[in-house]
Amino acid sequence: MSSFKTVSHVWCDACGKRGFTDDHDAEKALGRARARRERWADQNNPASRRGMKRENRIYECPEGLLHLTEQSRRVHNARAKHWSEVAA
Ligand SMILES: [Zn+2]
Repeated sequence: MSSFKTVSHVWCDACGKRGFTDDHDAEKALGRARARRERWADQNNPASRRGMKRENRIYECPEGLLHLTEQSRRVHNARAKHWSEVAA
């Protein structure tokens, strides 16, 4: 369905979402997610872009996989303060 070069991700049962095994791949996916969200905002509601305060971040879950999250730093830390963050 896509001509993208796929990144090395696996399914994480613990989190119920995709996880990456390689931080470089996670970074690439993060960049794509960011670009996609900004493009969406520009096309659908440019005025809202300013209010988009959510951060895309990468964190490492207890299973040792890397996940992307769109939660704010505050919410994320509250939910997973004992998880180590591998990228800001
Ligand atoms: Zn996980």
